[in-house]
Amino acid sequence: MGPVKASPESQLHLLELAELDAELARLDHRKRGLPEIAELAAMEARTGELKDAVVVTETELGDLAREESRAERDVEQVRTRIDRDRGRLDAGQVSAARELASLQSEIESLRRRQGDLEEVVLELMERREGLTSRLDELTAERDRLGTQMTTVAARRDAAISEIDEQAGQASGQRKEVAAEVPADLLKLYEQIRDARGVGAAMLRAGRCQGCHLNLNTVDLNQIRSSAPDEVVRCEECRRILVRTPESGL
Ligand SMILES: [Zn+2]
Repeated sequence: MGPVKASPESQLHLLELAELDAELARLDHRKRGLPEIAELAAMEARTGELKDAVVVTETELGDLAREESRAERDVEQVRTRIDRDRGRLDAGQVSAARELASLQSEIESLRRRQGDLEEVVLELMERREGLTSRLDELTAERDRLGTQMTTVAARRDAAISEIDEQAGQASGQRKEVAAEVPADLLKLYEQIRDARGVGAAMLRAGRCQGCHLNLNTVDLNQIRSSAPDEVVRCEECRRILVRTPESGL
Protein backbone atom coordinates (compact mmCIF):
# COMPACT_ATOMS: atom_id res chain seq x y z
CA MET A 1 0.00 0.00 0.00
CA GLY A 2 1.42 3.39 -1.01
CA PRO A 3 1.60 6.28 1.43
CA VAL A 4 -1.87 7.23 2.51
CA LYS A 5 -2.82 10.88 2.51
CA ALA A 6 -5.88 12.34 4.16
CA SER A 7 -7.13 15.70 5.36
CA PRO A 8 -6.48 16.56 9.02
CA GLU A 9 -10.26 16.38 9.55
CA SER A 10 -10.39 12.84 8.25
CA GLN A 11 -7.48 11.95 10.48
CA LEU A 12 -9.27 13.43 13.49
CA HIS A 13 -12.21 11.11 12.78
CA LEU A 14 -9.84 8.23 13.45
CA LEU A 15 -9.63 9.30 17.08
CA GLU A 16 -13.41 9.09 17.35
CA LEU A 17 -13.30 5.69 15.69
CA ALA A 18 -10.59 4.50 18.09
CA GLU A 19 -12.68 5.66 21.04
CA LEU A 20 -15.77 3.86 19.77
CA ASP A 21 -13.75 0.72 19.05
CA ALA A 22 -12.38 0.84 22.58
CA GLU A 23 -15.93 1.21 23.90
CA LEU A 24 -17.10 -1.77 21.83
CA ALA A 25 -14.16 -3.86 23.07
CA ARG A 26 -14.94 -2.89 26.67
CA LEU A 27 -18.60 -3.89 26.22
CA ASP A 28 -17.64 -7.21 24.63
CA HIS A 29 -15.20 -7.91 27.45
CA ARG A 30 -17.84 -7.06 30.04
CA LYS A 31 -20.40 -9.28 28.30
CA ARG A 32 -18.09 -12.28 28.22
CA GLY A 33 -16.92 -11.72 31.78
CA LEU A 34 -20.35 -11.32 33.41
CA PRO A 35 -20.18 -12.91 36.89
CA GLU A 36 -23.55 -14.56 36.22
CA ILE A 37 -21.94 -16.69 33.49
CA ALA A 38 -19.39 -18.20 35.90
CA GLU A 39 -22.08 -18.50 38.56
CA LEU A 40 -24.35 -20.44 36.22
CA ALA A 41 -21.53 -22.73 35.11
CA ALA A 42 -20.82 -23.60 38.75
CA MET A 43 -24.52 -24.17 39.38
CA GLU A 44 -24.80 -26.40 36.32
CA ALA A 45 -21.85 -28.46 37.52
CA ARG A 46 -23.49 -28.86 40.93
CA THR A 47 -26.80 -29.82 39.29
CA GLY A 48 -24.96 -32.56 37.41
CA GLU A 49 -23.45 -33.87 40.65
CA LEU A 50 -26.87 -33.84 42.30
CA LYS A 51 -28.47 -35.69 39.40
CA ASP A 52 -25.82 -38.41 39.64
CA ALA A 53 -26.22 -38.63 43.40
CA VAL A 54 -30.01 -38.93 43.05
CA VAL A 55 -29.62 -41.82 40.60
CA VAL A 56 -27.14 -43.59 42.88
CA THR A 57 -29.38 -43.13 45.93
CA GLU A 58 -32.50 -44.28 44.09
CA THR A 59 -30.68 -47.40 42.91
CA GLU A 60 -29.48 -48.13 46.45
CA LEU A 61 -33.01 -47.64 47.74
CA GLY A 62 -34.37 -50.08 45.18
CA ASP A 63 -31.76 -52.70 46.15
CA LEU A 64 -32.51 -52.14 49.79
CA ALA A 65 -36.28 -52.49 49.33
CA ARG A 66 -35.76 -55.85 47.61
CA GLU A 67 -33.42 -56.99 50.41
CA GLU A 68 -35.94 -55.88 52.98
CA SER A 69 -38.88 -57.75 51.48
CA ARG A 70 -36.69 -60.85 51.16
CA ALA A 71 -35.82 -60.62 54.86
CA GLU A 72 -39.50 -60.06 55.73
CA ARG A 73 -40.46 -63.16 53.77
CA ASP A 74 -37.83 -65.13 55.71
CA VAL A 75 -39.26 -63.89 59.01
CA GLU A 76 -42.74 -64.88 57.84
CA GLN A 77 -41.59 -68.38 56.95
CA VAL A 78 -39.95 -68.89 60.35
CA ARG A 79 -43.05 -67.54 62.07
CA THR A 80 -45.25 -69.97 60.15
CA ARG A 81 -43.04 -72.88 61.15
CA ILE A 82 -43.13 -71.82 64.80
CA ASP A 83 -46.92 -71.58 64.67
CA ARG A 84 -47.16 -75.01 63.10
CA ASP A 85 -44.85 -76.55 65.73
CA ARG A 86 -46.71 -74.84 68.53
CA GLY A 87 -49.97 -76.02 67.07
CA ARG A 88 -48.74 -79.59 67.17
CA LEU A 89 -47.63 -79.13 70.80
CA ASP A 90 -50.90 -77.48 71.88
CA ALA A 91 -52.99 -80.11 70.18
CA GLY A 92 -51.16 -82.76 72.15
CA GLN A 93 -50.19 -84.53 68.94
CA VAL A 94 -46.72 -85.25 70.31
CA SER A 95 -46.49 -87.44 73.36
CA ALA A 96 -43.18 -89.25 73.10
CA ALA A 97 -40.68 -87.54 75.40
CA ARG A 98 -37.88 -87.56 72.85
CA GLU A 99 -40.04 -86.14 70.09
CA LEU A 100 -41.37 -83.53 72.49
CA ALA A 101 -37.89 -82.43 73.47
CA SER A 102 -36.82 -82.26 69.85
CA LEU A 103 -39.87 -80.14 68.92
CA GLN A 104 -39.28 -77.79 71.82
CA SER A 105 -35.65 -77.38 70.89
CA GLU A 106 -36.65 -76.69 67.27
CA ILE A 107 -39.04 -73.99 68.45
CA GLU A 108 -36.24 -72.49 70.54
CA SER A 109 -33.87 -72.37 67.62
CA LEU A 110 -36.58 -71.01 65.28
CA ARG A 111 -37.24 -68.20 67.79
CA ARG A 112 -33.55 -67.30 67.81
CA ARG A 113 -33.57 -67.32 64.03
CA GLN A 114 -36.67 -65.13 64.03
CA GLY A 115 -34.95 -62.69 66.38
CA ASP A 116 -31.88 -62.50 64.16
CA LEU A 117 -33.97 -61.98 61.03
CA GLU A 118 -36.07 -59.30 62.69
CA GLU A 119 -32.89 -57.49 63.62
CA VAL A 120 -31.79 -57.64 59.98
CA VAL A 121 -35.14 -56.20 58.88
CA LEU A 122 -34.80 -53.43 61.44
CA GLU A 123 -31.30 -52.61 60.29
CA LEU A 124 -32.43 -52.50 56.66
CA MET A 125 -35.32 -50.23 57.60
CA GLU A 126 -32.95 -47.86 59.35
CA ARG A 127 -30.67 -47.79 56.35
CA ARG A 128 -33.63 -47.15 54.09
CA GLU A 129 -34.79 -44.27 56.30
CA GLY A 130 -31.29 -42.76 56.14
CA LEU A 131 -31.22 -43.08 52.36
CA THR A 132 -34.74 -41.69 52.01
CA SER A 133 -33.85 -38.58 53.95
CA ARG A 134 -30.63 -38.25 51.92
CA LEU A 135 -32.73 -38.47 48.75
CA ASP A 136 -35.06 -35.80 50.12
CA GLU A 137 -32.09 -33.51 50.81
CA LEU A 138 -30.66 -34.09 47.35
CA THR A 139 -33.90 -33.41 45.53
CA ALA A 140 -34.60 -30.37 47.72
CA GLU A 141 -31.17 -28.95 46.88
CA ARG A 142 -31.69 -29.74 43.19
CA ASP A 143 -35.06 -27.95 43.18
CA ARG A 144 -33.64 -24.98 45.10
CA LEU A 145 -30.76 -24.78 42.66
CA GLY A 146 -33.15 -24.90 39.72
CA THR A 147 -35.04 -21.89 41.07
CA GLN A 148 -31.79 -20.01 41.75
CA MET A 149 -30.55 -20.75 38.25
CA THR A 150 -33.69 -19.27 36.74
CA THR A 151 -33.08 -16.08 38.74
CA VAL A 152 -29.40 -15.86 37.81
CA ALA A 153 -30.15 -16.58 34.14
CA ALA A 154 -32.72 -13.78 34.14
CA ARG A 155 -30.11 -11.43 35.66
CA ARG A 156 -27.56 -12.51 33.05
CA ASP A 157 -30.04 -11.96 30.21
CA ALA A 158 -30.94 -8.50 31.52
CA ALA A 159 -27.24 -7.55 31.75
CA ILE A 160 -26.59 -8.89 28.26
CA SER A 161 -29.48 -7.01 26.70
CA GLU A 162 -28.31 -3.80 28.39
CA ILE A 163 -24.80 -4.33 27.03
CA ASP A 164 -26.16 -5.23 23.59
CA GLU A 165 -28.18 -2.04 23.55
CA GLN A 166 -25.09 0.06 24.37
CA ALA A 167 -23.08 -1.85 21.80
CA GLY A 168 -25.80 -1.24 19.23
CA GLN A 169 -25.60 2.49 19.86
CA ALA A 170 -21.82 2.52 19.67
CA SER A 171 -21.91 0.47 16.45
CA GLY A 172 -24.38 2.92 14.93
CA GLN A 173 -22.14 5.85 15.83
CA ARG A 174 -19.12 4.00 14.51
CA LYS A 175 -20.81 3.46 11.17
CA GLU A 176 -21.53 7.17 10.89
CA VAL A 177 -17.97 8.15 11.76
CA ALA A 178 -16.46 5.51 9.47
CA ALA A 179 -18.53 6.91 6.59
CA GLU A 180 -16.62 10.19 7.01
CA VAL A 181 -13.21 8.51 6.63
CA PRO A 182 -11.74 7.96 3.14
CA ALA A 183 -11.59 4.31 2.15
CA ASP A 184 -7.78 3.96 1.98
CA LEU A 185 -7.29 5.60 5.39
CA LEU A 186 -10.03 3.43 6.89
CA LYS A 187 -8.42 0.33 5.44
CA LEU A 188 -5.05 1.26 6.96
CA TYR A 189 -6.71 1.95 10.30
CA GLU A 190 -8.49 -1.43 10.25
CA GLN A 191 -5.30 -3.26 9.37
CA ILE A 192 -3.45 -1.73 12.30
CA ARG A 193 -6.41 -2.30 14.59
CA ASP A 194 -6.60 -5.98 13.64
CA ALA A 195 -2.91 -6.36 14.43
CA ARG A 196 -2.65 -4.17 17.52
CA GLY A 197 -6.12 -3.69 18.93
CA VAL A 198 -5.95 0.10 18.52
CA GLY A 199 -5.53 1.64 15.07
CA ALA A 200 -4.89 5.28 15.82
CA ALA A 201 -3.71 7.40 18.70
CA MET A 202 -3.36 11.07 19.44
CA LEU A 203 0.03 12.70 19.54
CA ARG A 204 -0.20 14.68 22.74
CA ALA A 205 2.62 16.83 24.09
CA GLY A 206 5.17 14.88 22.13
CA ARG A 207 3.91 11.54 23.37
CA CYS A 208 2.08 8.76 21.52
CA GLN A 209 -1.16 8.05 23.37
CA GLY A 210 -1.16 4.54 21.93
CA CYS A 211 2.07 3.20 23.41
CA HIS A 212 2.58 6.09 25.87
CA LEU A 213 6.15 6.66 24.77
CA ASN A 214 7.69 10.06 24.17
CA LEU A 215 8.81 10.58 20.61
CA ASN A 216 12.45 11.44 20.17
CA THR A 217 13.52 14.79 18.71
CA VAL A 218 14.32 13.34 15.31
CA ASP A 219 10.86 11.79 14.95
CA LEU A 220 9.16 14.90 16.27
CA ASN A 221 11.08 17.07 13.81
CA GLN A 222 10.10 14.79 10.99
CA ILE A 223 6.44 15.02 11.95
CA ARG A 224 6.77 18.81 12.22
CA SER A 225 8.02 18.95 8.65
CA SER A 226 5.34 16.60 7.33
CA ALA A 227 2.46 18.13 5.40
CA PRO A 228 -0.86 18.16 7.32
CA ASP A 229 -2.38 15.64 4.92
CA GLU A 230 0.39 13.15 5.40
CA VAL A 231 -0.58 10.22 7.59
CA VAL A 232 2.20 9.72 10.11
CA ARG A 233 2.86 6.63 12.21
CA CYS A 234 4.39 6.09 15.61
CA GLU A 235 7.88 4.63 15.18
CA GLU A 236 7.38 2.52 18.31
CA CYS A 237 3.90 1.03 17.95
CA ARG A 238 3.25 1.77 14.25
CA ARG A 239 -0.16 3.20 15.04
CA ILE A 240 -1.44 6.18 13.09
CA LEU A 241 -0.45 9.30 15.01
CA VAL A 242 -3.13 11.95 14.80
CA ARG A 243 -1.93 15.51 15.19
CA THR A 244 -4.03 17.98 17.16
CA PRO A 245 -3.35 21.43 18.65
CA GLU A 246 -2.27 19.56 21.79
CA SER A 247 0.45 17.65 19.99
CA GLY A 248 3.25 19.96 21.13
CA LEU A 249 4.63 20.45 17.66
ZN1 LIG B 1 3.07 4.63 19.77
